[in-house]
Amino acid sequence: MNRRNFFEKAVPASFALGAIASSCAPKTQLKYPDKHFYIGQGYHQIPKPRLSMDRIVKETVGLRPFRASGPRLDVEQLGNKTIVHNYGHGGSGWSLSWGTGNMARNNVLKTGEKKIALLGCGTVGIATARLLQESGCEVTIYTKDVPPNVTSNLATGTWSPASRVCDKTVAKPEFQKIWEEATRFSFRRFQFLLGMNDIACWAEEYGVFKDAPVYIPGAGGEDFEIEGLLPERVALSPKEHPFRDANVTRRTNMMFNIPTYLRHHLQDFTMFGGKVKIQEIKKLEDIDALPEKVVVNCMGLGAKPVFNDQELTPVSGQLSCLIPQSDINYKLYTQGANFISRKDGIYIGSNGIVGNWDTTPSREQTEKTVGILMKLIENMRG
Ligand SMILES: Cc1cc2nc3c(=O)[nH]c(=O)nc-3n(C[C@H](O)[C@H](O)[C@H](O)COP(=O)(O)OP(=O)(O)OC[C@H]3O[C@@H](n4cnc5c(N)ncnc54)[C@H](O)[C@@H]3O)c2cc1C
Repeated sequence: MNRRNFFEKAVPASFALGAIASSCAPKTQLKYPDKHFYIGQGYHQIPKPRLSMDRIVKETVGLRPFRASGPRLDVEQLGNKTIVHNYGHGGSGWSLSWGTGNMARNNVLKTGEKKIALLGCGTVGIATARLLQESGCEVTIYTKDVPPNVTSNLATGTWSPASRVCDKTVAKPEFQKIWEEATRFSFRRFQFLLGMNDIACWAEEYGVFKDAPVYIPGAGGEDFEIEGLLPERVALSPKEHPFRDANVTRRTNMMFNIPTYLRHHLQDFTMFGGKVKIQEIKKLEDIDALPEKVVVNCMGLGAKPVFNDQELTPVSGQLSCLIPQSDINYKLYTQGANFISRKDGIYIGSNGIVGNWDTTPSREQTEKTVGILMKLIENMRG
């Protein structure tokens, strides 16, 4: 395998990456030229983030709702209620929200009902609610919490449709087709969100490694990929980047500015007549008591006790947030740490501990990741 092909396949476990372009990706001459990244010309687009522990203003631990077989998207009849499930997206919920939301919408429309109850107000619930409204449904969201008090608010916010989306050894072969349909739908939808106060945007993503990274299936990298969806990941020569490490790649990927994104869509939801009721669903009887006949379940990890879902497991992830820096507009991942620069901060993270329900942030984890990145940034040329 040549150096270039190796880069294309090698994905670090520590970072939720988007789909990797394959060796059949566009020909070299069609790719965007890198000339303006040449450091020799005294100009490059990789300014340094200000990294220090005293600039950390927030540490969070979120629980990814992971199901080994993939998100639950089936329809269940409970008494006189039709339950349309849409939960368990692992580390891909932001990316897949519109795609699986569209599948849930199609299942709802088959019932012919127009008054719909939707459980949950995270990124999956809000996207699904908006799609239902676009199809003429009257939607009421019933939810324990609203943003910022939802898992979706604790995510990195990168396009990573196959990150911890399933365990490939458990998921049925047909899941890949479902995933692909959802991914394509979401990807297209996100393109229509560009330019709206940067709630979704494109940014450069650098991989910086001393030794070429090794791909570990199911450990946070991407298990599936769609050829040609994202621009190709390219290996940079030392002239094209300011890092000291030998293995550096660049790719352009999508990212989501989480707080403004959620607010934007929630405002749209209410603008189109949607209602939000704060109500915890503790048992199936609580669902039975709702006035609507069709209920869409977007409760994420909260679906576990209510629907006795043994498969649903938390995969915790810590993020440590630095004061935002408007000059930093890229993402970077390296061995053991990564960061993404959003409007609301530079988010450093994120680890993944399977089965961990503890949401207490670890200072040690922050110190470790900040330390790794400080060393890398201090060594940058220029
Ligand atoms: C550290 C970290 C980084 C991540 N990074 C990314 C990323 O870069 N890209 C990406 O695509 N994904 C990422 N994810 C995954 C993504 O955040 C999740 O898949 C997504 O947030 C799940 O959304 P959701 O709407 O299903 O769940 P949630 O956001 O948890 O929403 C569930 C909703 O249901 C409500 N609810 C729960 N229980 C009940 C109940 N009993 N009664 C009533 N309401 C209830 C909650 O209050 C909430 O409103 C990351 C996750 C973590 C933790």
